[in-house]
Order: sequence, then C-alpha cells, then structure tokens
Amino acid sequence: MTAPLTIAVVGGGAAGFFGALTCAQQYPQHRVLILEKTRQLLSKVRISGGGRCNVTHACFDPALLVKNYPRGHQELRGPFSRFQPRDTIQWFEQRGVTLKTEEDGRMFPITDSSETIINCLLQEAKRLRVEIGLEQGIQRILPQSSQGFLLEMTNGKTLACERLLLATGSTPKIYPLLQEMGHTIVPLVPSLFTFNLPTSPFLDLAGISVSPVEVQLPALGFVQTGPLLLTHWGMSGPAVLKLSAWAARALHVIDYQTNVTVNWLPAYKEEELRQLLLATKQREAARQVGTESPVALPKQLWKKFVALAEISEEQRWATLAHKQMQALLKLLRSTELQLQGKTTYKQEFVTCGGVALEEVNFKTMESKRCPGLYFAGEILNIDGVTGGFNFQNAWTTGWIAGMTMG
Ligand SMILES: Cc1cc2nc3c(=O)[nH]c(=O)nc-3n(C[C@H](O)[C@H](O)[C@H](O)COP(=O)(O)OP(=O)(O)OC[C@H]3O[C@@H](n4cnc5c(N)ncnc54)[C@H](O)[C@@H]3O)c2cc1C
Repeated sequence: MTAPLTIAVVGGGAAGFFGALTCAQQYPQHRVLILEKTRQLLSKVRISGGGRCNVTHACFDPALLVKNYPRGHQELRGPFSRFQPRDTIQWFEQRGVTLKTEEDGRMFPITDSSETIINCLLQEAKRLRVEIGLEQGIQRILPQSSQGFLLEMTNGKTLACERLLLATGSTPKIYPLLQEMGHTIVPLVPSLFTFNLPTSPFLDLAGISVSPVEVQLPALGFVQTGPLLLTHWGMSGPAVLKLSAWAARALHVIDYQTNVTVNWLPAYKEEELRQLLLATKQREAARQVGTESPVALPKQLWKKFVALAEISEEQRWATLAHKQMQALLKLLRSTELQLQGKTTYKQEFVTCGGVALEEVNFKTMESKRCPGLYFAGEILNIDGVTGGFNFQNAWTTGWIAGMTMG
C-alpha cells in the first residue's frame, strides 16, 4: 500500500465517473474526488440514446471494435484488450444492471432508461466514498515543483492533489490550460452529422430507408456502406453518419460542400445489374416500367429512378431504348448529389479533436508531457461512430486511468 494520496478527477461525466470509481475501488486508501463545474452530474448519460443510454456495442473482438473509431483506432487497440464491451457488461451486471442487445448491436439497460445507469454510478460513488463537488469548475492548473498540482476553481477555492485525471469532455475551455502545460491540441471539429442536400430529387421521399447502400465522397476518397434514411433535408442513417465521422475533418476544411454519390445496390456488380435489367426487359416485355421494381428497392424510390431516367411510368419494358436503360443503370449505381451543409443527428453531436494521442501513454492514460496528469474520454482526440462506441471509449480510458493513478 502506498501513502494516501489526493486524486482529483475533473468532470462528472461517464469517463470521470469510471475513472474515479475504478480508482476508489482499486486504491481504497486514497482520497478520490470528482469536481464538476455544473450542478448536474452525468448530464450526457441522461440524454444519450434518446434517454435510454446506448451504453456500449455488442462487439467483443478488439480488432473489430477499433474499426468504429475514425480517431483513436490505433491507440485503443491495447486498451480494448484490457477493458472492452464484455467488461462493461460485466461491470454493470455485477452492480445489478443488466444490458440488452438490439438487432443492430447497440446495448441499452433492460429498463430502457438512462436513469438506471446514472443511479448505478451514483450508488457506486457513495459506496466507495468518492467525494463529489458540484459547481467546482477548474479554471487553472498549476503543476507543483515537487509533485502534483494546485487546482484553482471558479468559486475561488483551491485544491492540492497528487494525481489529476482530466475528463472534461470536449469543452474547449480546458485546452488552453493544457497547451500551457506543453500539450498539443488537435483543433475541434464536429463529427456524426447528417447531410444537407437541398437540390436532391429525393426530398419528397423522406422516411424511406434502404439497406445496404454505398455512399461515397469521391473528391475526398471516403466511402461507407450501410442503411440509408432519406430525410426532408437530405440523407441520414448509419451509412451517412459513419461517413460524416470518417470524413469529419476533410469535410470541415471544404465547408461541407462537395459531391456525394450513392450506389443503391452495392451487392450487384455493374454487369450483373445490366444483365438483370436486360432480363427484365425480355421477361416482362409487356409490363409498364413503373409498376414494380425489378430490384429490392422501395416502389416509390424505383418510380423516382424511372422519372429521373426520363421514362414514363406507363412505358413498357420492351420499348425501353438503350439510352434509357443506361440512364437507369447509372442512377442505380451512382446517383450524384450535391452536399451543401450538415445537420446535427438527434442532438447526438460528438467532437473530433482534443489532446494529441501521441502525447498520452495508453497503457496508463498518463500524459507523456506532465507526470501525474491523466486523461479519459472525449477530451482526447478520439471519437467513435454512433452505436455506443463513444461511451465505450469513456469507460475504457476511465477504467485504465483509474487502475493506474494510485
Ligand atoms: C445528445 C447526445 C447523445 C449521445 N448519445 C450517445 C449514445 O447513446 N452512445 C454513445 O456512446 N455516445 C453518445 N453520445 C456521446 C457521449 O455522450 C460522449 O462521448 C460521452 O458523454 C463523453 O464522456 P466524457 O465523460 O468524456 O465527457 P462528458 O460526458 O462531456 O463529461 C464532461 C464533464 O466535465 C464537465 N467539465 C467540463 N469542463 C470542466 C471544468 N473546467 N471543471 C469541472 N468540470 C468540467 C462537464 O460539465 C461535464 O459534466 C451522445 C452525445 C450527445 C450530445
């Protein structure tokens, strides 16, 4: 046992709580405090997943799991081999919270209420005697010459601590303090958003979803496959959200103005699709083109393609000209749309950017620039796609920091 230390955790969110609880459990001899600048703890947990809290994702292979992190995939490989979604499930299970898996892999408490997660974390903090200070925003961090830090709070108080875990999320105010301490901050830009396509011919088909589709940003070299949802302002759904995350920085640079192409039937090769249309032309010669889709697409969408290819709905398959067939094929394989801005996805904004990852030791979450300083959660230049991956980053990095701070 080491001598008692004061361990301050700044930020009462998912990462701060997991860091503080793990540390208090692992090192009961130390004093562990959570300092939260607002009056509310775990406020993002409360609103997440539409109030249900998408705690994690049922992906248990670290090598596959990291593929969901546009920023942080390399660095999280090691941490996920130590604390991954299976451990998150077990952690909550051991404290009386059972998680369930939805069809798409997202995991929620069986109560479908984020309050269950919040109550569990608060009870655990009480059990482990973690001290919690509300309205205690940290505004200055003064590294001490011997060891540790002096924290200056917005309420005028100060606190001396030997170890400091920063888990302040993506709040920009903390970053100048870190720059003063020698850290590099990767500029913040939004991630996880839907596409505004004001000139799209599909706006009147809002609500229709197609799966899978392949959405591409040809000028930027990004492509993603998955379900797509047509909206009255453009496009959303997992394929678009994933694309927005992977291309977040590149899209920010060009102010979200670029070409988007959609392959509505990525399962078919071009020649296969051509043959399928030709076979339909022969087999259904007398049928009107607009009556039924020859491919697995919603009828309304097929009718739209027919109109865009300048084919009348009543025209018979037999009379389709080569040019019309080519136009249909082109639309199905690569409809071209114009991205003009973005819209937040169900308020689930995530920020990419933050503390540069090469300046953090991912075995401990300790800063390589400033001994005794640790990081966890979204303060780091790490972000995941939608589906519970962002919380998993908070649980994992919080857990590792908690295990090593004592
Ligand atoms: C609407 C919404 C829905 C979401 N849904 C999901 C979801 O379902 N699944 C998922 O995986 N992810 C989801 N996310 C993302 C997820 O919420 C975040 O990635 C996660 O909360 C990050 O946790 P964190 O602890 O790092 O930061 P935060 O949760 O942001 O917590 C940081 C805390 O630090 C405090 N703080 C900041 N500065 C200071 C300071 N100077 N002094 C003291 N305290 C300070 C803040 O007040 C805050 O309480 C959602 C995000 C939003 C906005």
